[in-house]
Amino acid sequence: MATEKVRALTKKQLETLRLKLLSEKKSLVFSEKVEDSAISLSLPEGSDEVEQSITDYNNSHLLRFRNREVFYAKKIDGALKKFEVNEYGMCSDCASWIKFERLLARPTADLCIQCKEEAEKEESNNFIARQSKSLGRVVDLTGMMA
Ligand SMILES: [Zn+2]
Repeated sequence: MATEKVRALTKKQLETLRLKLLSEKKSLVFSEKVEDSAISLSLPEGSDEVEQSITDYNNSHLLRFRNREVFYAKKIDGALKKFEVNEYGMCSDCASWIKFERLLARPTADLCIQCKEEAEKEESNNFIARQSKSLGRVVDLTGMMA
């Protein structure tokens, strides 16, 4: 089987991706500095339940959105750190280089496409195992060990 040799990124490609990461970070609406208190809006006295529940709904949406952004911001920081040690674009699993096209689409990717697919396969296998366990269909293998 011929494996396609992926070359390390050129300086120009690295710079393109670094700028992309920086601009993505800038585009995040919430910074990590946003306090929870900025989100929980207090309603004036006498607000009815509907208003209250709308506010709760909006707040929980905002919180979820913010959490996702904080998570993404951390991923971006992690990726930017890899530039400092010249490991950006290297698969964290098999240490081969991730293709430029993949990084362009997902600059925070830290797995090459092969490892990513493996990880996803494993994830769905685990899911199936969990499912069958919950259905009580797990076969007892202890007897086969003897
Ligand atoms: Zn890999």
